Amino acid sequence: MVDLKSQYEKIKPEIDAAIQSVIDSCAFVKGPAVKAFEEHLASYLNVRHVITCGNGTDALQVSMMALGLQPGDEVITSPFTFIATAEVIALLRLTPVFVDVDPRTFNLDISKVEAAITPRTRAIVPVHLFGQCCDMEPLMALAAKHNLHIVEDACQAIGAEYRFSDGSVRKAGTIGTIGCTSFFPSKNLGCYGDGGAIFTNDDELAHTLRGIVNHGMFTRYYHDMVGVNSRLDTLQAAILDVKLKYLNDYIAARQQAAARYNELLAACDKVTVPHIAPFTTHVFHQYTLQLAAGVDRTALIEKLKAAGIPAMVYYPVPLHLQKAFAQLGFRAGDFPVAEKLCATVLSLPMHTELDEEQQTMIVERLLQC
Ligand SMILES: *Cc1c(COP(=O)(O)O)cnc(C)c1O
Repeated sequence: MVDLKSQYEKIKPEIDAAIQSVIDSCAFVKGPAVKAFEEHLASYLNVRHVITCGNGTDALQVSMMALGLQPGDEVITSPFTFIATAEVIALLRLTPVFVDVDPRTFNLDISKVEAAITPRTRAIVPVHLFGQCCDMEPLMALAAKHNLHIVEDACQAIGAEYRFSDGSVRKAGTIGTIGCTSFFPSKNLGCYGDGGAIFTNDDELAHTLRGIVNHGMFTRYYHDMVGVNSRLDTLQAAILDVKLKYLNDYIAARQQAAARYNELLAACDKVTVPHIAPFTTHVFHQYTLQLAAGVDRTALIEKLKAAGIPAMVYYPVPLHLQKAFAQLGFRAGDFPVAEKLCATVLSLPMHTELDEEQQTMIVERLLQC
């Protein structure tokens, strides 16, 4: 699905030098490369604060801790996402409240959010799934009206741009109260291990977030609150600082690959290609098709696999039907759009090194199935 090796080969000298310089410095934790990367990423995103941490899941958890959410508070999110989004909600003993998604963008259906707001609702976690932004402008208006926080899960959408009706543009993760991202190797800006970051324009929140990721410590060995130990290794920061320079090129390569898939699949009535909403760019963390009724997805995946082509289902089970959330008491039929997507989506290989020849071969095989 990804080709991290070829991507590395192209920037090997720079990456190797960055790694070696961290090893030479022996500043493995909180070294100067961490601060440099945070500054460079803040400038790329046009956001006041970037706080790095151990991974994207921690970024989400720490964000909810910093907002002071209390057990029993309700947090609205999507049932069609990676488990981490709702996992941290449950872990903090908050209550996940799911709202169904839009059948074309796969993101939260904003028209259904207000009906899910109760006096216990404290926050909304929109997920910019597969690389395009959720419709943030109406969501921000709802949040303001009901005095709710917004924590953006931008783990799949770093660099994606949301366009407001006044023409202004902001990057995914920098619009809500707080934004979160992941640097997991296969993400669009991936490191060589685990990593994550939190974004905010709020100075006070930034201070709190920095304390929480470092044991609730604001002055050395004085702990004002119960925090966690979640840091981005200096080695990973040095790698990311090199890769950040290429992020726009990586995004362009993904968009080009998506356009080629669209073209190659244009005449195929067995699949619906990704829809891009007019208010956002799409950075194609995944290129995800919807299969037409009657297409046997399992058989299709098997046939592709036999031809050496990986194809994946992100995600086979909606969160409300995951065993881990059985105690929440949801049933099949509660979120029909998410359920239908889980049964019909198929993601094709998508990465920065995909070329026309590979894509032609992939689509030829797909059309034969
Ligand atoms: C990857 C991902 C996460 C979690 O990030 P990790 O770094 O793997 O902890 C959370 N939400 C979404 C939507 C993701 O894709």
